[in-house]
Amino acid sequence: MEKIKKIEEMVILGAGPAGLSAAIYAARADLNPLVLTGLQLGGQAALTNEIENYPGFPEGVGGIELGELFQIQAERFGARVEFDIASKVDLSKPPFRITTDNGEVLTKTIVIAVGANPNYLNIPGEKELTGRGVSYCGTCDAWFFKNKNVAVVGGGDSALEEGIFITRFANKVTIIHRRDEFRASPILQKRAMTNKKIEFILNSEVLAIHGEGKVESIDVINKVTNEKRNLVTDGIFIFIGHSPNTGMFKGKLDLDDENYIKTNNLMETNVPGVFVAGEAADPHFKQVVTSAGMGAAAAIQAVRYLENET
Ligand code: NAP
Repeated sequence: MEKIKKIEEMVILGAGPAGLSAAIYAARADLNPLVLTGLQLGGQAALTNEIENYPGFPEGVGGIELGELFQIQAERFGARVEFDIASKVDLSKPPFRITTDNGEVLTKTIVIAVGANPNYLNIPGEKELTGRGVSYCGTCDAWFFKNKNVAVVGGGDSALEEGIFITRFANKVTIIHRRDEFRASPILQKRAMTNKKIEFILNSEVLAIHGEGKVESIDVINKVTNEKRNLVTDGIFIFIGHSPNTGMFKGKLDLDDENYIKTNNLMETNVPGVFVAGEAADPHFKQVVTSAGMGAAAAIQAVRYLENET
């Protein structure tokens, strides 16, 4: 006979700004929420060196530090943050069943805050040399490129912000972008363009990454002239956007064409009792502050749902 398991009031999947903000609100509503962190405590914010646009920190705040502050605040009110990874969910009827690395959890409500993962270029050499000069996180890996030359791919906020950060360590950063206009914010464009260590290769794409055991060079093509060249480099950082980490919910929740979980402005999914927040549902804003706001909203709505259900 199956042992009767405890049924949680709320399980929050993910411990980035969305998940931990949901945890603060749910904990303050006395739900004693369980947060399953997934792989990345602090979410993508923890991969950012300095966050300058989160309100309340006029001098900026470290990404890891902000995640830790969120966690301390959530735990202060009774949230339980556990390092565990959910691999499967059964949303067919409440209580919902979540299979994790450590076992199984039953819960009346779920707030999905699983965030997004970096996109890959999917070019030869990329997979083989990841961690050997190919990186998706400047904050984590820039230190390894002290006095070296690196390439950065992308033209958004991440590419420019991380490119600027990497110049603290590297001798030279070459930003390679497929167009001649950047989608990064004007303030970052100005900072990058006036940084003496940064050079630009525009209208260009990286075709392949070469190296024996570590990155040694990359092939780049100019899309206007079709001219190909080989660029010697010690590393390549790739910042070409993200895709939501929602594979586990395929066939179980309504997703859009890009696999973002469909939601309304109450952060509800198509399954009553299951809510979503942050980048798993947000192709538009992707900011720490908007994710945190969605997390708070999802938790508030989940509390209302529980009040109406019982
Ligand atoms: P993003 O804004 O989607 O930019 C991705 C960049 O990669 C674009 O320049 C895109 O080129 C390029 N790209 C996409 N696929 C490519 C491919 N296959 N090959 C070559 N280049 C490719 O992504 P992000 O920079 O990671 O930013 C994501 C979100 O986070 C944004 O909303 C951003 O504002 C936010 N963010 C904000 C801050 C900040 O406020 N300080 C910092 C980091 C991120 P095209 O431009 O040609 O499409």
